[in-house]
Amino acid sequence: MDKIINYINEGNYFIVTSHVNPDGDNIGSTLAMYYYLKSLDKDVYYVLDDDTPINLKFLLKDIEILSSEEFINLNIEQYNLIALDCGDLNRICIDKSIIENSKKLICIDHHASNDNYGDLNYVMPEESSTCELVYNLLKKINEDKNTQVIDQKIATALYTGVVTDTGKFSYSNTHPSTFEMAKELLILGAETNKVICEVYGNNPYNYYKLLGEALNTLDIINNKIAVITLTQDMLNRNNVSFKDTDGITPYCRDIENVEVGILVKEKSSNEIKISLRSKNYVDVSKVAKVFNGGGHVRAAGLTIFNETIENAIKMVVAETLKYI
Ligand code: 5GP
Ligand code: MN
Ligand code: MN
Repeated sequence: MDKIINYINEGNYFIVTSHVNPDGDNIGSTLAMYYYLKSLDKDVYYVLDDDTPINLKFLLKDIEILSSEEFINLNIEQYNLIALDCGDLNRICIDKSIIENSKKLICIDHHASNDNYGDLNYVMPEESSTCELVYNLLKKINEDKNTQVIDQKIATALYTGVVTDTGKFSYSNTHPSTFEMAKELLILGAETNKVICEVYGNNPYNYYKLLGEALNTLDIINNKIAVITLTQDMLNRNNVSFKDTDGITPYCRDIENVEVGILVKEKSSNEIKISLRSKNYVDVSKVAKVFNGGGHVRAAGLTIFNETIENAIKMVVAETLKYI
């Protein structure tokens, strides 16, 4: 932590970024770091080559996210890169040249599969979220400076990440420290009700039409594995984008007797994104790893290229059955 704090203090130019398929912890942690660096009058750029989900747009109202191309066109030569919530180097959602040309790559993350790919790594797999790590870092800075650096915007961003990565404080990654952090953020002005309303309580009508179709595909294998499939046709028919379908994932896990939920999403004609969730005993990150994916014990993901949906499901179900 101290080394990272030193780098932050000494550097003038920073990029903050995160992983492909942005989620609440991705955006919350990146944004909190962005706001903190801004508060120090650093030149900071939020760079990400992916669309953000509509239920997280409220956080990004005052922010400009640059594409890699836009950043490269600025011709900034000396910069540090802070990658947040990225389990591996390949998932950092910016152009490889930007990573290669950075002075230092600082990695802040909580994925067990993280191999410490950064020049400086603050990686704590047992923590609830990357937002909890950023919170710990800012708390340390508070102590060093004897002042409060977490303002309302930072608190709201951090709260969003911890709420989404813990399934509203329900998953096994919710520790006493997680509640302590939530309490502190509330005291610091985090807009907790707004976060819940925006993230979970604002789904468009079309989303429910899609959800209905998705639930119709539900298949249960050996009473223990549930599979829900979302095709491009279903997304197009209901006018819902791929990035706005994360809310469907819990439905395949939250079924009587089911241990592993598998959400299969056709991202494009040759790319199938699969989300894995488990309840009690299956380490789904092990299943994901077999397909070059990764993640956590209870939540992991992978992508299968150039296979039919049927084959992709067969392969992942066969691997999952080994742990049932
Ligand atoms: P989701 O299924 O919601 O996309 O992701 C669940 C968890 O697994 C998240 O922590 C996410 O970052 C991670 N994850 C998802 N897909 C991949 C992947 O292809 N590779 C790795 N390393 N992690 C992934
Ligand atoms: Mn994430
Ligand atoms: Mn996370």
